[in-house]
Amino acid sequence: MKLIEKWDERMIDLARHFSTWSKDPSTQTGAVIVSPDRTTILPGYNGFAKGAPDDPEIYADREVKYERILHCEMNAVLLGAQSVKGFTLYTYPFLSCPRCAVHMIQCGIARCVAPAIPPDKMERWGEAMERTKQRFTEVGVKWTELNLEDGHVSDEYTARARVTDEQRRMLNHR
Ligand SMILES: [Zn+2]
Repeated sequence: MKLIEKWDERMIDLARHFSTWSKDPSTQTGAVIVSPDRTTILPGYNGFAKGAPDDPEIYADREVKYERILHCEMNAVLLGAQSVKGFTLYTYPFLSCPRCAVHMIQCGIARCVAPAIPPDKMERWGEAMERTKQRFTEVGVKWTELNLEDGHVSDEYTARARVTDEQRRMLNHR
C-alpha cells in the first residue's frame, strides 16, 4: 500500500481550512487548486457569488440555495481567473460531485485528491463519488483518495478496476 505524501496531506489540511469559511449550514466544502511547480495555490469554498446577499434565510431554503451557490471547485477556478491546465485539485471533505468533475476536466485539471469518503457519508454520497471517479478515469484525470486514518492512499489504478467491475455488472444485467 502507498503512503500519503506530506504535500498532499498539507494541501488537504488547507482545503479543510477553507471549508470552514462556508456559511452553508448543511455542507461546508473547501478546495485548493495547485500549480505543478506548487507556487500558485487558488482557494475556494462553497458560497454565493461575490457581493450577493448571503443571509441565513437564503441558505435555509434549499431550492433558493441550490440556484445561487457555487461549489468550492468552481469558486476556486473562477476567483483565480487564470488557466488551471495541468493543476492539481484538492477537495475536502471528499471528491468533487459529478457536475464539478466534468467542469474540472474541461478546465484541464490533471489530478484530484480528497479524503476517502467516511462510512457515515457513504449512503448519501457514495454513488455520486463512484460516478465522479468514472468521469475522471474515462478521460485520464488521475485521482487519489487519502485514508487519513491509516495514512494510506487508494489511486486511479483501483478506479480502473472498479470501472471494469461496474461495466461487467452492467453487461450482466442486460
Ligand atoms: Zn460540485
